Amino acid sequence: MEERTEGPAGAEPDPARVRRAVVEVARRTVADGLVVGTSGNVSARVGDTIVITPSGVPYERLDPAALPTAALTGRPAHEGPGESGGPVPSSELPLHLAVYRARPEARAVVHTHAVHATAVSTLVEEVPAVHYACAALGGPIRVAPYATYGTERLALVTVEALRDRTACLLANHGTIALGEERDPVRALERALERTAQLEWMCRVWLAASSVPGRAPALLPGAEIDRVIERLRGYGQPGDAA
Ligand SMILES: [Zn+2]
Repeated sequence: MEERTEGPAGAEPDPARVRRAVVEVARRTVADGLVVGTSGNVSARVGDTIVITPSGVPYERLDPAALPTAALTGRPAHEGPGESGGPVPSSELPLHLAVYRARPEARAVVHTHAVHATAVSTLVEEVPAVHYACAALGGPIRVAPYATYGTERLALVTVEALRDRTACLLANHGTIALGEERDPVRALERALERTAQLEWMCRVWLAASSVPGRAPALLPGAEIDRVIERLRGYGQPGDAA
């Protein structure tokens, strides 16, 4: 991604570098097949401001300098058009703001309508534990109950489903994942990687559960807990073997 490093400890990251990374990660959600058209959205937090992809602009036409921003605190959730009369923030701005407000460690949020994850979100209330990789996301993945896109209700149920997790599904809608690295550029990469892992896990469950006459074996909660403990003890938190 970028050659430039994070800068001195405690310094705020360079906003221009974070803007470029938001655009790059948004484009990668399309390239990686996680998003069709403009159906997802990506944001990062710099200080008390979030930078978010705009509503309805194809990702190949995104201009990092024109990305809309929104204040994290002290102002209404919907900010309207960008500061310079530029593009309007994604309609899921309330969802992104709610995640940052509920999870002070979050520095990036990626939301997609990835096909396998969305399919699974219509079938279950929790992604069945077919693989220990769910431990890297905090445990079995919850599905937030359905609520209309862009509403505070959706923001509320999503924050609840994300409790002690770094990703969840939104029923009949898609995925959301956060990254908590202090450098928002690394947090964006982490949130994208978690989205891809979640989509992959959903694909595994769909493949296994589509075999006629057979039901996939699921890992017991105690085993998921054991893997969570192992992940705490080895390498970076959240890195699955
Ligand atoms: Zn959506």
